[in-house]
Amino acid sequence: MISKNISLLKYNTMGIDVYADYFFTLQKEQDLDLYFNEMPTNNIVILGGGSNILFTKNFNGCVIKNEIAGIEVIDENNYTVKIKAGAGVNWNDFVDYSVDNNWSGIESLILIPGTVGASPVQNIGAYGQEVKDTILSLEVFDISALKHLTFLNADCKFSYRNSIFKQELKNKLIITSVTFELKKTFKPNLSFPSVANVLAEKQIPNPTIRQYADTIIEIRNKKLPDYNSLSNCGSFFTNPFLNKIDFEVFYKKNPDAPFFPYEEGYKLSAGWLIEKCEWKGKRVGNVGCYKDHSLVIVNYGGATGEEVLHFAKMIKQSVLDRFGVLLEYEVNII
Ligand SMILES: Cc1cc2nc3c(=O)[nH]c(=O)nc-3n(C[C@H](O)[C@H](O)[C@H](O)COP(=O)(O)OP(=O)(O)OC[C@H]3O[C@@H](n4cnc5c(N)ncnc54)[C@H](O)[C@@H]3O)c2cc1C
Repeated sequence: MISKNISLLKYNTMGIDVYADYFFTLQKEQDLDLYFNEMPTNNIVILGGGSNILFTKNFNGCVIKNEIAGIEVIDENNYTVKIKAGAGVNWNDFVDYSVDNNWSGIESLILIPGTVGASPVQNIGAYGQEVKDTILSLEVFDISALKHLTFLNADCKFSYRNSIFKQELKNKLIITSVTFELKKTFKPNLSFPSVANVLAEKQIPNPTIRQYADTIIEIRNKKLPDYNSLSNCGSFFTNPFLNKIDFEVFYKKNPDAPFFPYEEGYKLSAGWLIEKCEWKGKRVGNVGCYKDHSLVIVNYGGATGEEVLHFAKMIKQSVLDRFGVLLEYEVNII
């Protein structure tokens, strides 16, 4: 059913109270054919859990909220299992299910908010895992051609917090299901000191996949604000990339800056750059930079999307002025 003039407040974790002209809850892939018989194909935003989206004004189109359910094992052998999950499945529930079954590949991505269908959009990642390494294919609906299509992993142009769905095909395709391949063996990644330290404190040198996932949950709960009590979208900015030449210039001036090699250059820590510009813990009106994590912009209550965006722009400008480095938004601005 298509509803009219709906508040999006409870549909975004940034706590922004804007209205959509139309709102459609998608529960079955087949409903898309019915929907597009009635509705225009332009001016659409696809919404999952609303944990990576900032609405800056009322939306004069239709929000399609993806709630396609279902998890199905479609094939397995002694080493791997192939699982198809509906795009509306809660991402954390899906990780939990895989950990319960001792299937590995996404355990480090536990507790990331949102849906299965949004996970490929920015190729979600945390603690050394990226979802792209487990995705075999996606079922999508092409809005302009009104066709159901299959995308293979190679078609998705995955890279760091990015994919074709966040770029040229943004809001042009609706991801309806994702097929993953997970492993039946588990090797803990102990290369992150924060993870290794907690496991060492607990005297668990060889964690099971459940013990490992629980450790990630513990760390995330300490580090990140709960969006149910303090509205936020997680990291607002991505870590900036510098090619080798620009990096050398930057590093000469900032030898204490953290960095890591990435493709043909280096990634800097956006959190470090923001902290150096003294934004951590700073508040302007109802918007602020979280006291324990400088990448997270929080809405203390009642902030508008415009105010949040203005705050993000101020951070971006001060990092540019001080370091000559351009930050990019991880959050999708509407
Ligand atoms: C506290 C917190 C911590 C976070 N930690 C991490 C982290 O560690 N790593 C990380 O990568 N991200 C993290 N995020 C960001 C966010 O949770 C992920 O990007 C997540 O995948 C977004 O899912 P969603 O369903 O909420 O997407 P939404 O916010 O609803 O949508 C995000 C984008 O994807 C598009 N989209 C959504 N569903 C579909 C679909 N079915 N088809 C086509 N397009 C679609 C939307 O149009 C929008 O552009 C965090 C967020 C929060 C609030």
